[in-house]
Amino acid sequence: PRNLVLVLGDQLDLDAAAFDGFDAARDAVWMAEVAGEATHVWSSKPRTVMFLAAMRHFADALCAAGRTLHYTLLSDAANQGSLQAQLDADVDRLRPAVLVMTAPGDWRVLQVIKGVAQAQGLPLVIREDRHFYCTVREFAAHARGHNSLRMEYFYREMRKRHGVLMNADLPEGGQWNFDEDNREAFGTAGPGPVSERAVFEPDAITRDVIALVESHFATHPGRTEDFAWPVTREQGLVALQRFIAERLPLFGRYQDAMWPGEPWLHHAHLAAALNLKLLHPREAVDAAVAAYHAGAAPLASVEGFVRQILGWREYVRGIYWTRMPGYAEHNALDANEDLPAWYWTGRTDMACLRDAITQTLQYGYAHHIQRLMVTGLFALLYGVKPQQVHVWYLAVYVDAVEWVELPNTLGMSQYADGGLMASKPYIATGKYIHRMSPYCRGCRYDPAKRTGDRACPYTTLYWDFLMRHEARLSANPRMALQVKNVARLNDEEKQAIQERAAAIRSGGVA
Ligand code: FAD
Ligand code: SF4
Repeated sequence: PRNLVLVLGDQLDLDAAAFDGFDAARDAVWMAEVAGEATHVWSSKPRTVMFLAAMRHFADALCAAGRTLHYTLLSDAANQGSLQAQLDADVDRLRPAVLVMTAPGDWRVLQVIKGVAQAQGLPLVIREDRHFYCTVREFAAHARGHNSLRMEYFYREMRKRHGVLMNADLPEGGQWNFDEDNREAFGTAGPGPVSERAVFEPDAITRDVIALVESHFATHPGRTEDFAWPVTREQGLVALQRFIAERLPLFGRYQDAMWPGEPWLHHAHLAAALNLKLLHPREAVDAAVAAYHAGAAPLASVEGFVRQILGWREYVRGIYWTRMPGYAEHNALDANEDLPAWYWTGRTDMACLRDAITQTLQYGYAHHIQRLMVTGLFALLYGVKPQQVHVWYLAVYVDAVEWVELPNTLGMSQYADGGLMASKPYIATGKYIHRMSPYCRGCRYDPAKRTGDRACPYTTLYWDFLMRHEARLSANPRMALQVKNVARLNDEEKQAIQERAAAIRSGGVA
């Protein structure tokens, strides 16, 4: 071929820039399923199924569009096992004049492809990823113009630049942010009937992939029995419409709430479809804004949803691409514990963690507050090495791709970047979880206790965290109040907290 267009597992968009000027007579597309992408982290079965099933459906869409495709199956005898070796072998065989691609999402993958092109002496054309609202260059310019990088300023700039929820120069409804309205818990009666998430029964292609993953990656974490994610653009659009019509109205209000055995609640469950590029973020944002204008959803919900996509999602991508590769190595709090083994099984007595991890392994999904304030918070307080936390998050979620996962994990949840993403560590005792859910009622621990046999590990570790990082945290005005409380503890209490924290870390309490 003249141009060989490289398509990665998270670039499944027929209209991507890589296809600009595609000439069916002279160009061809390259895709490959390689085991290395499922083993460089211990990728969970649902996540691997998500990628491979979406890739195979996309391959069909490419063929239907008349584009010549060279596709390597995981089970092909000649499969080389890694992205680098597979591309190298295929370039040898196909002898293209030029390699063309849309900018990849992962820094690591970009290096691999550049390396192959260079070794082969082939030109590599990398095109802008039009999927995003903000280019990396624009983000870098924004970052240069601000001393402290804060999502809120970036988000306002994006709202103005793209005219989203704006009345001339003013934000719709007179305020930029409705966060205060978006923190309700469910009452004692629970969430009540929540409209079911969109379920897509696996078709023959996806069933094949499930069988393949079960045999190739048998020991990997997670289950495939309940796999029902959208794996085509059409299904992604259905999932989006269902969310907008049925769950968006209450999305904002209950964004932070949790309920045992209820993984889906009022969330969108669209991150995987967006990250694999089955859906365009503009489609999601436009649909939500249209629902607001039609009177079908309140502004607080719509603004909350828009902020996640136009704000956070674009912001973390900018951080990732302007800070890599160094970003992945940060460990500002010098956290060096190993991730407890039960993160991979859910076998713990802590009710909130057990539920969050069990559903994660079952579906490849947990909502934001479960990720941030249950699994993430525990790892932060425990002092797990951020790189191990990163590996876990990248492995277990169907929507996990590094550009979005890494800043959320290392920065937002573990404070490992020392305050670039978040102005202070998100720390809390078990009382936060108690406020947002009924988990503590069914737990052997007590969120109000920091010492003794029934002490909630979050609560013990919270105080231990404040004590361990007192000097650093008291320099942060936003933490001063929390840190001051340490001074109220007498030596005996401090020692009891430290002893209990040590028991938790040694696995005596789990
Ligand atoms: P909703 O809550 O319904 O939100 C709607 C959409 O907004 C999401 O689909 C997503 O595209 C976007 N969004 C929301 N929050 C964020 C955020 N903080 N950063 C970027 N986009 C956001 N998101 C991923 O897409 N992939 C990841 O690997 C990932 N890892 C995370 C790890 C940690 C430790 C934390 C705290 C968050 C992580 N997030 C990740 C962000 C967020 O938790 C998920 O996007 C969200 O839970 C996905 O579920 P949903 O589609 O139902 O989202
Ligand atoms: Fe979680 Fe602690 Fe509540 Fe148990 S008591 S559910 S561990 S917050």
